[in-house]
Amino acid sequence: MSAMGSARWAYIALGGGLLIIALFGVLIDTAAGSVVYLLGGLYGTLLSVVAAWRMPPARRRIWWAFAVGQVMCLIGDSLFTLFEDVLHIEPFPSVADVAYLAQYPALAVGLLWLIRKQRRGRDRAAFLDAAIFTTGLTVVGTVFFVGPAAANGGSTLLSQVVAAAYPAGDLLVLALAVGLFTAGVVRNDALWTLVVAILALLVADLVYVASVVNEAAYPSWIDYAYLMSYVGLGFAALHPSAHLLSEPTLDRPPRITVTRMVLLGLALMLAPLTNQVAFLTGVDHGTWVVFVGGCVAAVLVVLRLGDLVKDLQRKAVQLAALARKDGLTGIPNRRTWDHELSRACALAREEGTPLTAAVLDMDNFKLFNDTFGHLKGDLVLKETSAAWASILHGRGFLARFGGEEFTALIPAASTDEAVALLDHMRRSVTHGQTCSIGLATWDGVETPGTLVARADRALYHAKHNGRNRIAVDADGTSTVVTRHSDLNPMVEALRSVYQPVVDLRTGTVIGSEALSRFAGQNPRDVFDAAARDGSSAALESAAIRKALDGWNGVGLLGLNTSPSALLTPQLNEVLPADLTGIVIEITEADLVGYTTEVMLAIDALRARGALIAIDDFGIGFSNIQRVVTLRPDFVKLDMSLVRGIDADPTLQAVVAAALLFAEQTSSVVVAEGIETAQERDCLVRLGIAYGQGFLLGAPEPSRVDH
Ligand code: GH3
Ligand code: MG
Ligand code: MG
Repeated sequence: MSAMGSARWAYIALGGGLLIIALFGVLIDTAAGSVVYLLGGLYGTLLSVVAAWRMPPARRRIWWAFAVGQVMCLIGDSLFTLFEDVLHIEPFPSVADVAYLAQYPALAVGLLWLIRKQRRGRDRAAFLDAAIFTTGLTVVGTVFFVGPAAANGGSTLLSQVVAAAYPAGDLLVLALAVGLFTAGVVRNDALWTLVVAILALLVADLVYVASVVNEAAYPSWIDYAYLMSYVGLGFAALHPSAHLLSEPTLDRPPRITVTRMVLLGLALMLAPLTNQVAFLTGVDHGTWVVFVGGCVAAVLVVLRLGDLVKDLQRKAVQLAALARKDGLTGIPNRRTWDHELSRACALAREEGTPLTAAVLDMDNFKLFNDTFGHLKGDLVLKETSAAWASILHGRGFLARFGGEEFTALIPAASTDEAVALLDHMRRSVTHGQTCSIGLATWDGVETPGTLVARADRALYHAKHNGRNRIAVDADGTSTVVTRHSDLNPMVEALRSVYQPVVDLRTGTVIGSEALSRFAGQNPRDVFDAAARDGSSAALESAAIRKALDGWNGVGLLGLNTSPSALLTPQLNEVLPADLTGIVIEITEADLVGYTTEVMLAIDALRARGALIAIDDFGIGFSNIQRVVTLRPDFVKLDMSLVRGIDADPTLQAVVAAALLFAEQTSSVVVAEGIETAQERDCLVRLGIAYGQGFLLGAPEPSRVDH
């Protein structure tokens, strides 16, 4: 049954109950009155039983407890009616009292289980609040109800105890109902009805006790209150929100609201107020009740305050720690840096030891973000700063200065030692990113601000000289000091080989691509290592020099370079002034590095007669926009698009798309890695003009002439 549907049933059931109450009102003074009263009690109890029956197993026992309480009350009412209306006797205490009193533990257990469900784990604050309320209520109840009830309960001890047990039971249930609120229960229809039903029961009970104590006849309206409590409990259990009520809520501490403060204040005042009112009205109350109640309340308040203060102190410590750290990387932030910098300068002055400050800045990081996304950028910052922190551990201090800029302090080390350490850090940047570093060693007199400004100037110098390097500021002059590993053995081992590029239809060789070989080492590994080392440009320039030296000048010559190398003086030194017949090949993956500077460098090469090729096309279509901007002369299809193309319609579709694209940019498509005649024939069919690969010619030490 849907929640909406069952809510409707609950309201229909409530309507039925109200009708019975109305009927009771009509017949109250007739003999049928007690019968209708018992009928109403039976009706409400049945609603509860049916609802408890249909509850999911995990919550069933809570609602069974309430239902059992109602059954007990109904048994009491039935026996009472039997004695009074049928047998015309008024025994006290009687078996009816046993049933009546049994309802309190049942209701209390139900409420307790409900509170427990609400709070996962212990919640001291809610418990203390409830205890403060309960203490105040207990003082009032004991002085005005339990005590007098016992006093007027009769001649025997048993009758006094039984008389006092009613208000005591009421107090217990009331305290637990308050606990329901301090525990932060979901306040929905079921809860409000439950609370109203219990309050109706308690008020009726207390008025009944008060009238017995005062030896007066009890007012007839309290029978309506009892009936309301029967029907109300049944409705609460039947309402679909009862399920939610017994669902554990999130474990959050109770909020200190103004209402809660006011109520707690009133609860605290209950003991002295009781004392005063009892004194003024002449109620004979054992002053010890007020005394003990007041003391207990005072202890509870002190405990509650102590908890609050402890909590505040803990939060203050946490906040202070947070304020010193950077949110993304978890390393110290700029505020901590400023503090640490002046402390380190003071220490260096005191002890006469050297101190080096460094500024580390990611290279072209905006481009990295634009290409791979901010999340990946964040990851680079996080992982790199973690790596740096572990390198510096025990030897220096690292902070995030802001954005993609970090600062480091290296005390008690010579400039050379600091450079070695920073070079290790430079090579530890993750995700293929690079960084530039500027550093300055404290001169013993300058302010911390000047020291950092000098390091910053050195950083600018490092950036200006090609990035991915370290520069030192000494006496106002910056010098690049990155120690690149010795390239000579690599250059010694370097050989150029040439792979022919062929017109696929005629078989005519139209040119070659120069490739580097390093005496058995994987060329990609060698170039990657050089990139990490910051010496790509030197190695690429050496490779281009070798390729040009061994070239016989026939047809086109393809030379591979990286965008960053294009900006370096080394590369421009090895390239001849006239670049006619030269094809500059840049891999598509490298398009990441396409800054305005790189575009300008490419334009300059074109002006000198060079042709431009996009190499390994198809491995990163995400950069297609940049390929368009570049308007290359050649687009070289990556071999992963060529291998097995004759049997793969998907690859054929991709290559056809690449051809369309090339048409738009007026580029010529060259297929790489052709190994079989079938692949070649398929490419020809698709309309590819040129190709290279083992089928057409392996890379040879010197280009084959014809
Ligand atoms: P340069 O080599 O000259 O330093 O170039 P750059 O692009 O690194 O320098 P620029 O100062 O122009 O740009 C810095 C970029 O760093 C801009 C911003 O998007 C990025 N950045 C700054 N803070 C964060 C961050 O917390 N997360 C990520 N992902 N990127 C950041
Ligand atoms: Mg940067
Ligand atoms: Mg190439």
